[in-house]
Amino acid sequence: MFENLSERLSGVFDRLTKQGALSEDDVKTALREVRVALLEADVSLPVARAFIKRVQDRATGQAVTKSVTPGQQVVKIVHDALVETLTGDEDPGKLKIDNPPAPILMVGLQGGGKTTTTAKLAKRLAEREGKKVLMASLDVYRPAAMDQLAILGTQIGVDTLPIVPGQKPVDIARRAKQQATMGGYDVYMLDTAGRLHIDETLMQEVEDVRNVVTPRETLLVVDGLTGQVAVEVAEEFDAKIGISGVVLTRMDGDGRGGAALSMRAVTGKPIRFVGLGEKMEALETFEPDRIAGRILGMGDIVSLVEKAQQTIEAEQAERMMKRFQKGRFNMNDLKMQLEQMLKMGGMEGIMGMMPGMGKMAKQVEAAGFDDKIIRQQIALIQSMTKLERANPQILQASRKKRIAKGAGLDVSDLNKLLKMQRQMGDMMKKMGKGGMLKQAMKGMF
Ligand code: GDP
Repeated sequence: MFENLSERLSGVFDRLTKQGALSEDDVKTALREVRVALLEADVSLPVARAFIKRVQDRATGQAVTKSVTPGQQVVKIVHDALVETLTGDEDPGKLKIDNPPAPILMVGLQGGGKTTTTAKLAKRLAEREGKKVLMASLDVYRPAAMDQLAILGTQIGVDTLPIVPGQKPVDIARRAKQQATMGGYDVYMLDTAGRLHIDETLMQEVEDVRNVVTPRETLLVVDGLTGQVAVEVAEEFDAKIGISGVVLTRMDGDGRGGAALSMRAVTGKPIRFVGLGEKMEALETFEPDRIAGRILGMGDIVSLVEKAQQTIEAEQAERMMKRFQKGRFNMNDLKMQLEQMLKMGGMEGIMGMMPGMGKMAKQVEAAGFDDKIIRQQIALIQSMTKLERANPQILQASRKKRIAKGAGLDVSDLNKLLKMQRQMGDMMKKMGKGGMLKQAMKGMF
């Protein structure tokens, strides 16, 4: 998968990784080539541009991680940006099919792999999620298409709606809905007819069917090898029908990865699955991380950089711990802790990781200590001067007033923060003596 792009990028980074230090010019040159590679891989120009900009902004001014070359670090940044572009809010493998019978509408152009994907997905839902699935072909133009679905159904052990010659697609859809309801099916999948090109009649027909069943998921099946065309098809279907996700087929071929990248960026729709062959098992959940790794073909470097970063974070933690043991815990430390808490899922998450703190976590929770409060506390600290952060004991009435006002909060909020800083400082000191701190901090970084 994505060999072209991968090879191209490998070439760029090979040159880069051989150098010891990375100048701004190097970054620019490398990214220019990345951009060409993306365009050659059929990524649309605006997407490639936005992508490169993001990488450039990040690469420039970033502290170079110890124990990897700057070139390797750029690889990591490019990788992360790829993952970000490819990632949506949803869990790609989790379809919205809770209320039975849930209709799934499969749409796309002819030859894109719609019928094959319908069966692959039905098999997956039946086998992995234990769903009772009914499939129905609405392709009234090609009787062979109906037979094809029926044959696949028999092969994978999934029911298909009996074929009634001469029925219109909307009537077949109604019949499928009825049968799914009466037969106690969890899901019914409608394999709509495709055309070689998008036309008005096709769109109208799919729209009518959509109005009859109100699908829970409308999945567009497109040939991943068609690159930019696939993206255009997705845009059209989304504008007229409204799609909830995309399945990219033929990703087993020596395809151009551009489709995956610009599909997400241009349509904003999640790629749910990828087709990796003709066999019924050849359907996988779309995994941004994996695809990005494949695009780059440099997974090793990515994990190397990750390890290096972990080392640095561990060193940081070690330094912090030494300070805490000496009883030094100022507002800068507290701010770092609070930010870490937000990253780790709030107070509850972090306390859960610290030994012996379960009880305290519950109290904190009861006191309504949530993300909003953490953010307010960070705002208070940000409102302090450098001197105040390092020496919170100097805070008197007038300083307190100014700080609280700066954060848009009350002095009483600030007092609570100060109390917390003192308590945490004491706690860290105590824990430091008993060796517990080291244990606790392991979980925190
Ligand atoms: P439809 O017209 O959209 O329903 O397309 P079909 O499901 O009939 O598929 C057209 C052809 O593509 C068939 O020969 C499938 O076996 C093949 N096909 C579908 N998905 C994939 C895939 O992910 N990889 C490969 N290599 N072939 C596929």
